[in-house]
Amino acid sequence: MINRIFCLIASICLVLLMFNGCSNSSENSENKRTSTDPYSSTVYAMDTVMELTVYGNEDILEKSEDLIYELESKFSVTDTESDIYNINHNSGGAVSPDTDELLKLALTLCERSEGALDISIYPVVQAWGFTSGENRIPSEAELEELLRLVDYRAVSVDENNNVTLAPGMEIDLGSVAKGYTGNRLVELLSENGVTNAVLNLGGNVHVIGSKPNGEAWKVAVTDPSGEGYAGMLKVVDKAVITSGGYERFFEQDGVRYHHIIDPTTGYPANNDFLSVTVIGSNGAVCDALSTALFVMGPDRATEFWKKSDDFEAIFITSEGISITEGLEGVFSPLGNYQNEKVTVLYRD
Ligand code: AMP
Ligand code: MG
Repeated sequence: MINRIFCLIASICLVLLMFNGCSNSSENSENKRTSTDPYSSTVYAMDTVMELTVYGNEDILEKSEDLIYELESKFSVTDTESDIYNINHNSGGAVSPDTDELLKLALTLCERSEGALDISIYPVVQAWGFTSGENRIPSEAELEELLRLVDYRAVSVDENNNVTLAPGMEIDLGSVAKGYTGNRLVELLSENGVTNAVLNLGGNVHVIGSKPNGEAWKVAVTDPSGEGYAGMLKVVDKAVITSGGYERFFEQDGVRYHHIIDPTTGYPANNDFLSVTVIGSNGAVCDALSTALFVMGPDRATEFWKKSDDFEAIFITSEGISITEGLEGVFSPLGNYQNEKVTVLYRD
């Protein structure tokens, strides 16, 4: 619970950092509205606080909120009416076009990451209590048994949006749903003429265009220790998505157990990563890859980035910060990392 509250506070602070110096909609309500007026709304959905700030179009906020709730009602693992709940409790079934699209995309990323991302990890995530909040350490035997159910290759989706799961298998799109929702919001806003916006979906940030004054948006990257920010990134038209062990965890006998599970062991990914931030144009891809790279660990994640051309990344380990070459000149360390060397990774 305490770490949940910490996350909420951190995500609100992140927005404050980005909007430092902006006036809000109520302050502007007396004035003539211009395309540089920001309008904001806060939504609690997908188990997190979302802050939407849109310039020049207040009316679109309500439609954006409706879209978030609509997608949540399809992707939720706990809502008994959702597509995912239905297929998890019936070993498959028909899903909506939105779920079909996200599921197919997620499966390509499970494949691309060679199973570091595996949407069928859900029974294991449940065993650790990360869905109910009643955390516990499952026994080795229990994990071994549950891992038999984990294999994204046993999920199939046909051309009529019908999903089939192996018996006992359950899936969870939690690792990609917020990134996908961000993509859909960007699409909705762009179609409605919005050229400047910041969408902070619980620390997963999507920006449209630049600030109205033409400068790049500044997006803060959380310090995984929980003390403020590790850095700041200047971005235009991008998603900036972070996965970290600090986001959801419990401690027992002095050991921390977090919510990102290594599908090969059933235990929380245990490598040198404290957090991975992925930056790119497609939020769903960035969301999937931030989770997958966090599981892979620094060496495999670096090799994976070298073979890819659709994202940049910020890796924070106990050794410090590494950034991929495309971020040179746009990333600056902050706080505890301000005077530390930032290593730049090159493709050679
Ligand atoms: P994220 O915060 O995007 O990194 O996603 C983490 C969430 O995805 C967790 O809370 C789990 O519900 C789920 N998850 C954990 N490990 C994995 C994994 N290896 N592959 C896919 N989803 C995972
Ligand atoms: Mg993710």
